[in-house]
Order: sequence, then structure tokens, then C-alpha cells
Amino acid sequence: MNNCLPINIAGEWRDGRGEEYATTYPATGEEVARLRAASVEDVQEAIEHAHHAFLQSDWARRLPHQRADVLYRVAHLIRERAEELAQLQRQDNGKPISETRALVASAAGTFQFFGAACETLEDIITPSRGEYVSMSVHEPMGVVAAITPWNSPIASDAQKLAPALAAGNAVILKPAEVTPLLSLELARICEQAGLPKGLVSVLPGKGSVIGDVVTRHPLVKRVSFTGGTSTGKHIAAIAASKMMPVSMELGGKSATMVLEDADLDHAVAGVLFGIFSSSGESCIAGSRLFVARRIYDEFIQRLVAGAQALRVGDPAAESTQMGPLITASHRDRIERYVAMGVEEGGSIRTGGVRPSGGVFERGWFYTPTIIEGLSNQARIAQEEIFGPVLVAMPFDDEESLIEQANDSVYALAAGVWSRDFKRAWRIGREVQAGTVWINTYKQFSIATPFGGWRDSGLGREKGRQGIFQYMEQKSMYWGTNEQPLAWACIQGGKQ
Ligand code: NAD
Repeated sequence: MNNCLPINIAGEWRDGRGEEYATTYPATGEEVARLRAASVEDVQEAIEHAHHAFLQSDWARRLPHQRADVLYRVAHLIRERAEELAQLQRQDNGKPISETRALVASAAGTFQFFGAACETLEDIITPSRGEYVSMSVHEPMGVVAAITPWNSPIASDAQKLAPALAAGNAVILKPAEVTPLLSLELARICEQAGLPKGLVSVLPGKGSVIGDVVTRHPLVKRVSFTGGTSTGKHIAAIAASKMMPVSMELGGKSATMVLEDADLDHAVAGVLFGIFSSSGESCIAGSRLFVARRIYDEFIQRLVAGAQALRVGDPAAESTQMGPLITASHRDRIERYVAMGVEEGGSIRTGGVRPSGGVFERGWFYTPTIIEGLSNQARIAQEEIFGPVLVAMPFDDEESLIEQANDSVYALAAGVWSRDFKRAWRIGREVQAGTVWINTYKQFSIATPFGGWRDSGLGREKGRQGIFQYMEQKSMYWGTNEQPLAWACIQGGKQ
């Protein structure tokens, strides 16, 4: 009997022709689903079919408000199935249920937002310099690819699918191998909402095999990628060779700065949330902490107490704040980083171990960890760990603070905690990062652009402008001359 979960290739729900594999629940290691990955041939078939669907279906030619209707229906269906999807997302990557509910709500909001962006999009008439009307309009690109990581699948898929579809494109969605379940459900929901068949394919499998084929395919006109920086650079190099635009949401090593006049209750809560929510498996995790030397000892003491009080455990429990890590091998990698921090001269103030007993015996759990005694040059202060590990450092003055905060190949996000609004503003403007939070952290609005500088990325997602990532711009000139163009005319106006 075939127990494999079908995947969506070229509008058909069937087994892939790649390897059979199982996804597991990170809290217990138990199998959640078994599926056959997409093969290289499946990828080619899906892309060709998507190209055909883009040309033959009326999707790109539908009036914007008609496309928006489908996106609104997707938002509605996500909301109708919210609890089921949140539970599935929990099983897919082990995030606590309170977090997966928020991710599902945000995915619905994303489809609604881009529905509205689609039906209110305006092309512009530009000032003309002759006898014509000049316009700047936007066209869909054709087949675009969305490649997403495992840490927040439903939200990162929605962030790409919604604007790409709103813009009139066909989409090849390549989820992370270990977390395909929500992406497949999203494809079902799109189908149910009335999206033409074959316009979205979902291709689970190894990135190095099928992701590469997606990126290189000549019919793929854009890749929107979220994932690690080294994978992003690899994809960007392929894109350069075929002159294809890309957008890159990559890694981070974000600095959180606590000034001596900060409201410490707010700052402690914000720093804990910034690094330990999502078990630190978050691109924007505030993983480097700089605290004014005068308050350093008191602040770290309070932070350590806060970290020790966090409820780590069963992601299904309503009160759980930190679930397991995604895989055993990812936990091993985090442990290697912590050991490296100790070898580099750091001392562990709290955490640095696997919790034991009961629920902890089966899943990939790790305790919230705070390390101090290192400089910003230490490897664990420079490299992305993508886990619940915070490197804490004191700072002496504003100049050295900004210098250290900016001393990183990453520049995704930063946080400033201070009651002095002028100083917080000044530091916020000096810090190089795609997003700066002042007296808050990890807050998001779909209406606000998001992205990174330097090794943290290229381009911006979200915001009304996010839809333009998936469109080509075209200038149109419409002649209004009463007479033929002068150049071709002989003197006196006759040819
Ligand atoms: P990853 O780079 O290993 O994988 C991301 C996706 O790329 C997966 O779907 C994977 O299968 C695919 N992939 C891998 N090799 C590929 C190739 N050669 N060609 C095409 N696709 C390929 O990243 P990950 O481990 O899944 O996710 C963690 C990383 O993602 C972290 O670095 C994190 O900071 C980053 N991230 C960034 C953001 C952001 O918005 N900036 C958000 C979430 C995660």
C-alpha cells in the first residue's frame, strides 16, 4: 500500500519520482508524514506546465480586482482552517502552538494585504517632453520560483506566494525538505479558492538537487529566496549567469543594545523574546547583546533569571515558550558552537545543556543559553548560530557601541533600548540594518518592507512595493502628433 502524501506537480496531486523520505516531529522524533520527493524530471515538468498555465489560463489577464478576489478567498480559507493549520505547522517544525497560531494568522493577513495591493495598484503617467503620452506600467514575469526555509514555513511561503500571484505570475514553490506540509496545504487552499490548475506547484526535496534545477531553468524568470547566506550566494551566482533578478532574505547576527537609561523591565522582556522565542531559530534573533557597563551586572543577572524561568517543553502545551530545535543534527551544530565559545574563553552564565527527563528524552531540546566574557570578534559573536544562544558583552560609550554593532557581515536587524528618545533615534539611524526596533523587538507589519543589508540579503519583501518584485516595468509612449515625425520629413513637411 502506498502511504505517501501526494505532492503537487503541474496541477496534479501525485507522488514525486524522487526519493521516499519521512518528516518527523522535532518534539518526539516520531514520523509525521512520508512522501516521495520531486525528481529533476518532476521539476522540469512543473516548470513547463506552469509556463503553459501562465500563457493559457486567464490569470495574468484577469482584472486586478478579480485576481484579488481569489487572494481574499485564500485568506478566508486559511482563517477557516486556522487551528488545523497551526497544529500541522507545530508538527512540521516543532514551534510552540501559540507561535504557530500567530504565523497562520499572519499568512492570512498577507494574502488579504496583497489582494488589496493588487486591486489598488496604480501605473503612472509621467510628464511628457514631446507629442506623446508617456506611461510606466507593470507586467507579470511568467514563472517565478519561491524557495523557502524550515523555520516559519506558512509565513514565508505566504510572503512570496501572495505577491507573486497578485502580480499575475505562475509560481514554483520549493519548501525546505524537512517541512513541506504547510506548503502543500497552501497549494490545496489556492486550488480551492479558484486559482487555475497548474499555476502553483509545490516541489519538496533536497535543495542541492531540485533547488538548483529550479534556479537554472530558462523559463524561471525570478527567484525569491529565503534561507542561509551561503545558499543565497550560490543561487545569486547562477542568477547572474542568466541575468535573472533575485531577491534574497538571508541570515543575521542582530545586535540588541541596552543603554544605561533603559526601562529594565521592558528591556529584559524584549531581549529574552528577541533571542529565545522560536528557540532562536529566527533570522532576526537578537543574538548579540551589548549592555552599558554601568548596568551590565544587574542586567545580566535579571536576564539569566528570566532565561531560567522560560517554559521549555511540549510545543502542544499552551504555556510553552520554547519548543525543540528542528533536527538532531541542528542541535549538534549548536552544541559545537557553544563548545567553541567556551574554547574561545567565554563562560556560560546559564544553559549550554540539553534538558533531561520526561518530554525532553525524545525530542531535540536545548536550554536557553547566555555566554559572556567574549569580544565581538569571537566566532560565536560573528557567525549565525540559529539557536537559543546569546552572546552578551558590555560597552563603554556610544561610539564603540555603534562600531561593534556594525562590525558584522550581517545587517538584518537591530534593537535599541533607551528612555532617551533622541539618543535612541541617533543610534537607530547609525546602525546598519534592514530593520531597527526601538524599545520593542520582533514586531512586524505586512505593510512595512523587510529585508537585509550586506550578507543578510538583497531586495525587500512585504509592503505595497513588494508586489513589484514579481513584475517587470515597462515604459509606454503613445504618440499624439498631428504631423509625421519631423526627422523623416523633407523641408516643407512633405516626404
Ligand atoms: P538553507 O539555505 O539551507 O535552505 C533554504 C532553502 O533553500 C531550502 O528550501 C533548501 O532546500 C533550499 N536550497 C538548499 N540548497 C539549494 C540550492 N543549491 N539551490 C536552490 N535551493 C537550495 O536554509 P535553512 O537551513 O532552511 O534556513 C535557515 C537559514 O534561513 C538561516 O540562515 C536563516 O537566517 C535564514 N532565514 C532568513 C530569513 C530572512 O527573512 N532573512 C527568514 C528565515 C530564515
